[in-house]
Amino acid sequence: MSTHTPTCCRCGVKLTTSIASFFNLDIICAPCAMDERQAPGYQAAHDAEVSAIKNGNFNFPGAGLSPEDIAFLAWRRAERKATNPPAIVAR
Ligand SMILES: [Zn+2]
Repeated sequence: MSTHTPTCCRCGVKLTTSIASFFNLDIICAPCAMDERQAPGYQAAHDAEVSAIKNGNFNFPGAGLSPEDIAFLAWRRAERKATNPPAIVAR
């Protein structure tokens, strides 16, 4: 008996809704997607995606996360954990 439960690439929670990251090919949960929208590089990543699609590149893998974005997202995850303890404690 093996059940494969997809988990968020960022914070590891079980995914009930899976959302594609705007920055790369990660599949992430809704709270992580919300965090992305506030990340410092979101506008640039958004613009890069829009211009890629305009140029006919529909498989644009994303602009990638800058160190600032990674730091921001890590901080948001830590905040979430502190204010809203998950049922499953991460090791
Ligand atoms: Zn997540």
